[in-house]
Amino acid sequence: MFRQVLLAASRSNGVRRAMETAPFAQGVVRRFIAGGEVDDVLDVTLSLTGDGRLVTIDHLGEDTTEPSHAEAVVTDYLSLLDRLGSQGLGDRAEVSVKLSAVGRALDEGLAVENARRICAAAETAGTTVTLDMEDHTTVASTLRILRELRRDHPRTGAVIQSYLRRSEEYCAELAYEGSRVRLCKGAYAAPSDVAYSARADIDKSYVRCMKVLMAGPGYPMLATHDPRLIEIAGALAVLHDRAPGGFEYQMLYGIRSAEQSRLAGMGAQVRVYVPYGREWYGYAMRRMAERPANLAFVLRSFTTR
Ligand code: FAD
Repeated sequence: MFRQVLLAASRSNGVRRAMETAPFAQGVVRRFIAGGEVDDVLDVTLSLTGDGRLVTIDHLGEDTTEPSHAEAVVTDYLSLLDRLGSQGLGDRAEVSVKLSAVGRALDEGLAVENARRICAAAETAGTTVTLDMEDHTTVASTLRILRELRRDHPRTGAVIQSYLRRSEEYCAELAYEGSRVRLCKGAYAAPSDVAYSARADIDKSYVRCMKVLMAGPGYPMLATHDPRLIEIAGALAVLHDRAPGGFEYQMLYGIRSAEQSRLAGMGAQVRVYVPYGREWYGYAMRRMAERPANLAFVLRSFTTR
């Protein structure tokens, strides 16, 4: 119930505007978000990669309704990728892109063209793009755009959410040679005919999906902080004789950092999802919906500033 309220609030534009200018935003920024500017995210990227971790950078923003805003998002990604390339970080840092941020709600063709420009810049910088998966109404469109982009940019990463009842089927379709697939539980509200709601069902689905991906010839990117799922992933890697370079763990910036370092220290590939930018509200609300302790952290930052 609490989770549903926070997820509903995460979609409210009125609340979003009020919150993003609120003074306690800095507390949220410090914990889960690298900062507002490219320099902030590059500093965090250098520190994480210096510690042996990989990075995927998300320019915060979603639900773009103005073409000029979509263009500004693309421009920001292009300059970020240019900086990653010129600093030689392309082999350790990629970008994650939300299609809603580059104009999907305005026109799917515009989103494809914008995403194509970002993929081309990523290739020049020696890196890759992963298309974040958003709410359930956008899954078919995201998979369609993924197929389109992969014609010219075959390393474009996909995301499958295990809370979707069709997730195992999607994984089977995407488990082919060279296919980079991030598996996560899913962070949005969804109706029960489309998605599981019980944690146990979502976790069982995650294991089924992981088995498909780890057994196949693609490149699995296992995005979870869940200790049981991380342990099962390790067992599946042994079972399928996957070398540490043949898959990766992914976690969010600011969550279970010690575990990220521990896995990387053991020789595993660990990629950290690092968001930056000023439109932090939707992202932060989803983190709070996942875990009340995250909400407590933000409230503490409000009272101690
Ligand atoms: P949860 O069920 O939230 O947590 C399981 C267990 O993990 C907890 O019981 C606890 O033991 C541990 N844990 C979790 N959080 C903490 C914490 N703060 N401190 C200590 N232990 C903790 N969702 C999408 O819908 N689309 C996407 O494109 C997407 N991309 C993602 C990319 C990455 C790299 C990651 C990590 C997540 C992404 N997500 C995405 C979010 C994802 O769907 C989940 O909402 C989020 O990861 C929480 O799920 P969980 O697997 O960590 O499990």
